[in-house]
Amino acid sequence: MSDLLRFASFSRLEGVRHGFAGADAFGAFDGRRDEDLRRLAEAIDPGARLVRTRQTHSARVRWVEAGAPAPSERDLAAGIDGLATAEQGLALTALGADCPMLFLADRARRAIGVVHCGWRGVAGGIVDVALALLEERAGCAPSALLAAVAPGARGCCYEVGSEVVEALERAAIPVAAIARPYVRSDGSLSRAVDLPMGIAARLVALGVDPRAIELAEACTICGGSRFHSHRRGGQAAGRMAGAIAIEGAPG
Ligand SMILES: [Zn+2]
Repeated sequence: MSDLLRFASFSRLEGVRHGFAGADAFGAFDGRRDEDLRRLAEAIDPGARLVRTRQTHSARVRWVEAGAPAPSERDLAAGIDGLATAEQGLALTALGADCPMLFLADRARRAIGVVHCGWRGVAGGIVDVALALLEERAGCAPSALLAAVAPGARGCCYEVGSEVVEALERAAIPVAAIARPYVRSDGSLSRAVDLPMGIAARLVALGVDPRAIELAEACTICGGSRFHSHRRGGQAAGRMAGAIAIEGAPG
């Protein structure tokens, strides 16, 4: 259990359990394997019901209620890249391999969320969507939220093309502030962006207190074998996973 990454701010939050499993969690972790995801859910909150995303790089976040009907085939096909709930006993999970994962929690109202935040989702406004959903369903003001971004591709390594830069700019991500010069292996110059910093900037623009945002330092591309990385490992790369739950028996 000690090999799960935990955020200090979330660990202090009474009644909320969370954890991030890198490639080395439980010895060797791959969130694509059902038993690994179950193990993560069990480790953060024994007895909690596992809830999965259906990630398509969409900007869709699903509000989860224990008694609500399961998502339709159409919903699943369109994608569920984030999950949020105010109910206890539901272990919300998301997967990633370079794409940062955003953890959200409201201390007072006891609502939580976890969101897969690749560039397409961020450019599609998924950070805005997640915050709006928490406010609409549970009355969580952005100023009352705690946020954390798990290890992902950072500005040291995450080379992107102009289509990514333009899409992020359209979504009001301050690209100038998160872009870095990037030197390719052949010596030519390109540009990289720091997506976790972009997510943090968007959170602040939406009203989240900068002091309530925690960013994991590590970059999954240059961070070595502790992390699965799509950029480094290609299609065969495993998936890391984040999980969060409100403690208690499922309703
Ligand atoms: Zn790096």
